[in-house]
Amino acid sequence: MRADAVVLGAGIVGVSVAIHLARRGRSVTLIDRGEVGGETSFGNAGLIQREGVAPYAFPRALGQLARYGRNRALDMRFSWRALPALSAPLAQYWWHSRPSSYARVVHDYARFIAHSLTEHAALIDEAQAGALVSRDGFINVFRTTRAFETEQVAAAEYRALGVEHRVLDAAQLAQMEPALAPVFVGGIHRTQPWTVHDPFALTQAYLRLFKSLGGRFQRGDGMTLREDGEDWEVQTETGPLQARDVVIAMGPWSDDLLRRLGRRLPFFVKRGYHAHYRPGEGPAQVHAIHDEAGYVVAPMAAGLRLTTGAQFMRRDAAPAPVQVAACEAMARPAFPLGEQIAGSIWMGSRPCTPDMKPIIGPAHRRGLWAATGHAHHGLTLGPATGRLLAEMMTGETPFVDPAPYRMDRFR
Ligand SMILES: Cc1cc2nc3c(=O)[nH]c(=O)nc-3n(C[C@H](O)[C@H](O)[C@H](O)COP(=O)(O)OP(=O)(O)OC[C@H]3O[C@@H](n4cnc5c(N)ncnc54)[C@H](O)[C@@H]3O)c2cc1C
Repeated sequence: MRADAVVLGAGIVGVSVAIHLARRGRSVTLIDRGEVGGETSFGNAGLIQREGVAPYAFPRALGQLARYGRNRALDMRFSWRALPALSAPLAQYWWHSRPSSYARVVHDYARFIAHSLTEHAALIDEAQAGALVSRDGFINVFRTTRAFETEQVAAAEYRALGVEHRVLDAAQLAQMEPALAPVFVGGIHRTQPWTVHDPFALTQAYLRLFKSLGGRFQRGDGMTLREDGEDWEVQTETGPLQARDVVIAMGPWSDDLLRRLGRRLPFFVKRGYHAHYRPGEGPAQVHAIHDEAGYVVAPMAAGLRLTTGAQFMRRDAAPAPVQVAACEAMARPAFPLGEQIAGSIWMGSRPCTPDMKPIIGPAHRRGLWAATGHAHHGLTLGPATGRLLAEMMTGETPFVDPAPYRMDRFR
């Protein structure tokens, strides 16, 4: 069997790349070893973060470092045993987070994430998936005046980057979200982002769109990829498949394949968890809400989904959902959480790079491409990534400057 292009990995990123290639007349086979959208793209908080122009930086202030060093913060935990292996990429992450470097990251990132809504909009319309999406933003809520004021200053600065918001005092917050207990000093309504009630269903809807464009999906193992003369070959459940172009979009597993092909990247993961809760009594929570303490509670098809922040551990180490219990204890007095739905705890790994930007573009071998490393914003940037990579692969003029995302920025 042959295709013009094979896309390895069918998360939100791989499916979006596949759609954009198929749209440009390429014969495309999308390959996954499991269910389409069944891994990291399954369990996220569902936020399409148009406001997310400033990716999460490594803490640099001494006070912050001391707080995280105690390893009791809700938004970030680590395992001591994982630190030796993580020390090199984390040192680079720290270095790229210094103010002068971080300002450049934000400059580039803001230009890309500005397209997150419009690129999703096109696919949502074509996939007739509008019912999965709410278009009225999400809310950051604050427990301390200091954090509330600091975030208002940052939000005002980011207006220059096209990010809109509305400051809510405690009374306005209560009016907008009567389900919340009065424990917050105020909120910031991020008015532009969209929220997805079932991220898995959205990726599946995009898969149907891909198939309607003539694309094929097959089960297969990306780790079997090898060079075959001018072509690449990968094993699928129906036999070997050849293609001139191959895209590695295997999310947190992309690094395994690149390393096997001789390319080492300073890649690491931030693990995260979710759990679902039945809605409690009283008014229903309307918006997805991010608590300053370091978690999100979002109304989803399956119940109220609580998602946790970062956990620095080996990707394949056994789940250690300590942050779920800690976040639940913090959230329960404030949010309308009923009982936890049995068996609903899920773990995923955000694929991360030290300079906080994804890798989109040619890899180190002819015909080999990458679309990975989207960290906290893979759902947000999936369709924009798909378009950017497809434009590069087909020789079109890219709609944003691809230079900041090149793989060869890492030596
Ligand atoms: C708790 C949490 C909350 C988050 N919240 C948000 C949010 O609100 N908004 C946002 O934008 N982002 C969010 N993210 C990040 C986002 O979910 C990820 O960035 C995104 O899902 C990555 O998509 P992907 O397609 O690169 O990876 P994945 O979805 O993991 O897809 C990779 C695919 O590759 C396949 N694969 C792996 N190995 C092989 C192999 N050998 N052969 C074949 N296939 C293989 C896997 O089966 C998988 O389907 C969150 C992440 C977490 C963990």
